[in-house]
Amino acid sequence: MADHIHELFDKDGNPIGALLSAEAWAVVRDDVLARLGLAEQSTPPEKPEPLGDWETLQEYWDFDYPVDTDVTCSVCGNTTEDWAADDPRKFRLTAANLAGLVSFQCRNCLTKVVKKHFKDTIVTECTPFQGEKLQNKEGRY
Ligand SMILES: [Zn+2]
Repeated sequence: MADHIHELFDKDGNPIGALLSAEAWAVVRDDVLARLGLAEQSTPPEKPEPLGDWETLQEYWDFDYPVDTDVTCSVCGNTTEDWAADDPRKFRLTAANLAGLVSFQCRNCLTKVVKKHFKDTIVTECTPFQGEKLQNKEGRY
């Protein structure tokens, strides 16, 4: 994580500030804003979880297995038996549709976890948060 933080100094060596990578910022953002007393104003309102869509999917559930509530992030190992029961959430529901596509965001590392429900099986795909973009940015430093 050390290379995600770049401390900036002027030509006389006086500290100007620090630059964080998107990944590092995602990790410390809440702490930093809270410490500076900015948490309330600066936290952009998160889109509410589409719980209605999830309800609808459960209502019309026609897969050959019961409704599954477990979510696992293969990137950081975050896991839950019942995402909706976690308080605070380990995973945020970001999408759910009748085709059986249910997406989550790992609250630990922001990985996108997609559970694809097929007739008799579930396929889970994890996409790390902005992995490629991060590498591109680091290349510029
Ligand atoms: Zn994760």
